[in-house]
Amino acid sequence: MKILLSEQQLQAGIAELANRLTQEYQNRPITFIAIMTGSLVMLADLIRRLEMPIRVSLIQASSYRGGMESGDLTLDDSAMLDIKGRDCLLIDDIFDTGKTLSKVTERLKQMQPASLSSVVLLYKEGRQTFPLEPDYFVFKIPDEFVVGYGLDYQDLYRNLPYVGVMEKADLLAHPTV
Ligand code: 5GP
Ligand code: MG
Repeated sequence: MKILLSEQQLQAGIAELANRLTQEYQNRPITFIAIMTGSLVMLADLIRRLEMPIRVSLIQASSYRGGMESGDLTLDDSAMLDIKGRDCLLIDDIFDTGKTLSKVTERLKQMQPASLSSVVLLYKEGRQTFPLEPDYFVFKIPDEFVVGYGLDYQDLYRNLPYVGVMEKADLLAHPTV
């Protein structure tokens, strides 16, 4: 595994994001809407650095079917809180083509939040094909397939404390699941 962002870099980036959000939202309540499953590690680290009243809601979006190829996007909003009239912050692990953020944003707007902003950990450069941009991102990264800190390859590696690029040896050693 080639380490792209170390645990220390990630923690510093999340701390800086928490400061920006605190300046922006002050003591206003925020409803986080975490796109499952990739954003959960970042969510856990971020919300513990924030002191305004926070609610956590989940939405499932799956576009990567198993490997590295993108498939059709399916949304499951059965674990959503009521967000009508609330200030909401959508959180995802990585902004790639922009499809996930666009589709989820469309769905959430129908639920009439008071405001809806978005935050992603990683912004993959040069991949965007949808017009929507995230309001906040923590790191820009080159166009490589990354895992760790929530991001998976075939549902594994989410628990790595760093973000890494899988190398040939890692792919060969990858457990068959
Ligand atoms: P988009 O819809 O913007 O094309 O892609 C966003 C989703 O694709 C992310 O939520 C993530 O699940 C997945 N994805 C995109 N790039 C990567 C990557 O480099 N590694 C992993 N593990 N997932 C990715
Ligand atoms: Mg995802």
